[in-house]
Amino acid sequence: MIKRMITLLFSISALFSGEHRFDAQRAFQFLEKQVAFGYRIPGTDDHKACADWIIERCSALADTVIVQSFSAYNPYTKKWVEARNIIARFRPGETDRVMLSTHFDTRPVSDRDFAKPFMPVPGANDGASGTAVLLELLDKIHALNMKAGLDIIFWDAEDMGIAGSGKYFCQGSEYYALHPLEPLPQKGILIDMIGDKDLELLIEKNSMLYAPELVLSVWNIAAELGYQHIFKKQTGPEVYDDHMPLNTLAGIPTIDIIDFSYTYSGRNLWHTTKDLPAFCSPQSLLCVGETLLLWLSRQ
Ligand SMILES: [Zn+2]
Repeated sequence: MIKRMITLLFSISALFSGEHRFDAQRAFQFLEKQVAFGYRIPGTDDHKACADWIIERCSALADTVIVQSFSAYNPYTKKWVEARNIIARFRPGETDRVMLSTHFDTRPVSDRDFAKPFMPVPGANDGASGTAVLLELLDKIHALNMKAGLDIIFWDAEDMGIAGSGKYFCQGSEYYALHPLEPLPQKGILIDMIGDKDLELLIEKNSMLYAPELVLSVWNIAAELGYQHIFKKQTGPEVYDDHMPLNTLAGIPTIDIIDFSYTYSGRNLWHTTKDLPAFCSPQSLLCVGETLLLWLSRQ
């Protein structure tokens, strides 16, 4: 038992030292760069430029990259636009697989911003934070020597929906769930809104319903790393996010790691024009990035 503990501690320290460690500063630069592209609204040139940049990094680091093109509906312009899910695969032939995912598009309207509801959301937290973490993880994967294969997926067209109705959200993950890539992963972790400076990660209800063992294993790994004050073992609200098409349509048990409260001085920043890098932090990206890295090393 002692020997196992020593081996375990050694593997954790090896994972978090030197070139294999999660580089929080670089991840934060990835977040800032996405915001600098402009609003990543499907159908716009800024969105296309950002997607091309993500594809470029995936192509340099993954074993294969598959770009899944589909048409997405923007209910605000009432137009169909071109959208793309970006799928970076490691060990693509391995049938025993896991998935990490996030969305990279941003919301066309700031409908929670009562001063500027018709302006788009800059999406530093909602879009760029999860994408920054997964872009940073891409070049750590080969060194992990995982047994399982891995799909890292950047969903498009997650945030064009109409608030309240639930319609037109998660169009990219829904398209994938109806057109999945073989071999299919057996479990998945979605990250969304994890860049908040004041990060608090409660357990999302649907995640607990569809993949309770996965929730507990991830929250336990975070505690192992000393992040139990952020990954709190308390039940939070339920959300309809990209994990839902995966759970209900594709049958891939998937959890959502998401911060339900994105505020500054008591004021909501979520779906407002104030969703900016200034309210996000490298430390929050690090906490989620290191947890995912340790989880992956055991797959
Ligand atoms: Zn959103």
